[in-house]
Amino acid sequence: MNTQLPRRRFLAYSLASAGLLTTTTARPASTTELLVPNITGLYSIKVAAISAPRNAQEAAEQVRKWPGRIAVGGGRYSMGGQIAIRAGLHLDMRSMNRLVWLKEKEKRARVQAGMCWRDLQDIIDPHGLAVMTMQSYSNFSIGGSVAVNVHGRYVGNGPLCNSVLALQVVLADGSIVEASASENTDLFRAAFGSYGAIGVVTEVELRLTDNIRMERIVQSVPLDQYPEFFSTRVAADKSNIMHNADLLPPAFDAPISVTWRTTDKPLTENARLIPRGLSYTAEKNMIWAATELPFGQSLQNRIRPMMLEKPAVTWRNHEASLDVASLEPRTRLFSTYVLQEYFIPPRHFLSFARTMAKVLQKHDVEALNISIRHAPADTTSILPWAKEEVFSFVLYYKQRTYAGARDKVAVWTRELIDLAIAHEGRYYLPYQLHATRQQFQAAYPEAAQLSALKNRFDPGKRFLNEMWNKYL
Ligand SMILES: Cc1cc2nc3c(=O)[nH]c(=O)nc-3n(C[C@H](O)[C@H](O)[C@H](O)COP(=O)(O)OP(=O)(O)OC[C@H]3O[C@@H](n4cnc5c(N)ncnc54)[C@H](O)[C@@H]3O)c2cc1C
Repeated sequence: MNTQLPRRRFLAYSLASAGLLTTTTARPASTTELLVPNITGLYSIKVAAISAPRNAQEAAEQVRKWPGRIAVGGGRYSMGGQIAIRAGLHLDMRSMNRLVWLKEKEKRARVQAGMCWRDLQDIIDPHGLAVMTMQSYSNFSIGGSVAVNVHGRYVGNGPLCNSVLALQVVLADGSIVEASASENTDLFRAAFGSYGAIGVVTEVELRLTDNIRMERIVQSVPLDQYPEFFSTRVAADKSNIMHNADLLPPAFDAPISVTWRTTDKPLTENARLIPRGLSYTAEKNMIWAATELPFGQSLQNRIRPMMLEKPAVTWRNHEASLDVASLEPRTRLFSTYVLQEYFIPPRHFLSFARTMAKVLQKHDVEALNISIRHAPADTTSILPWAKEEVFSFVLYYKQRTYAGARDKVAVWTRELIDLAIAHEGRYYLPYQLHATRQQFQAAYPEAAQLSALKNRFDPGKRFLNEMWNKYL
């Protein structure tokens, strides 16, 4: 879905509507231009104004001048109103997409927070460098990724906060401050996973790593042996770089482990990065067939493992530059593809996996797959999704767009959230806001600490979005 407006027009309208720009070319933005959408096409939010700062000073000025609520948006891939607040100002960070500096020998880079991973990969790849931790796809903004404290498939890395060295943040009073593990520590810890509640992240300093060749190893693993397999065969071997295991419908009981490990073997794919703008016709057809044709699911279950069996040796940056477009449906008019994620301690892995499958079957959920990943405990962020070591269960499914379908999804989503909580686990916050307040509080008891820090950094509660409006 293209959520980009022509940049110059967007900036002029938005600054004007925020009262921050007076120019004769500016005119009031139309209603559609003031709707802030997200990737799902659901839950667009009508805001009073949109502005697109180009640097920290402009962001600070807009925060100082705007009298009401402010919500921040990056790539707009969160799914339930995390990026906007009704009748407030939407700060669109996508114009803040420049490199601040790159220190090649020290393997460090500082970027503006609206830059997406793919843009950074273009810059660092010629230097033989790669991002340490990011999502599986490269379209997300780096600031949005900080605010969600995202994770990928990297073995042992855990959330993004473990590879961020410093942040620049615009606070509610318009001040621009630096935060790191040794400076403004509370602010640094609160920024990760606080979904724009504390301030606007304007710059991010990242630790980088070497771009290396990786070979894909695919294995079938019995479900009840997977945690043991992961700790002895995946985590224990330092040459393993990325790992996930796929559970396929309808039984979700036979993990296919996919591990990318360091290798010197010749490349099977010479491109250093996945080119932008590919059409992904085959991928789109396969997803459509899997969810719409009578035998589509069993076809997918046969084709997918076969595709994975092909030998693959690629650059790390190539595998890390996947494009969300490869998952996009042809249209989101009648149905939309959505994600959920649950974080479960290893001791409850099997019970959760089996019961989750039953819930999905009971409600006829149109699940495409569940991807299992792992993360060690997060000891940095105030609101961690990995309070202890966890396996994560990423559910990718199709949802019809009419209101009745949303209500049905809400029912089984709440059932899965209860299931995660009963297994001493948590659910992920960037997705639809189906959790009740009680479920949020049970899953994230540290929210009280985040509230206390918010009172300190943002006493007027100016930074608010639809998610925090519901839960905090
Ligand atoms: C296809 C798909 C695959 C995904 N895969 C993964 C995955 O592998 N791992 C994972 O962890 N997540 C994954 N996600 C979830 C995704 O990581 C989050 O939605 C993330 O927020 C995306 O970044 P964004 O730039 O789109 O953020 P947005 O959706 O724009 O914003 C997310 C939150 O961050 C806040 N925010 C954004 N920018 C700033 C800023 N500069 N300062 C302060 N707050 C800010 C917003 O207010 C909002 O609350 C996936 C989502 C999709 C759609």
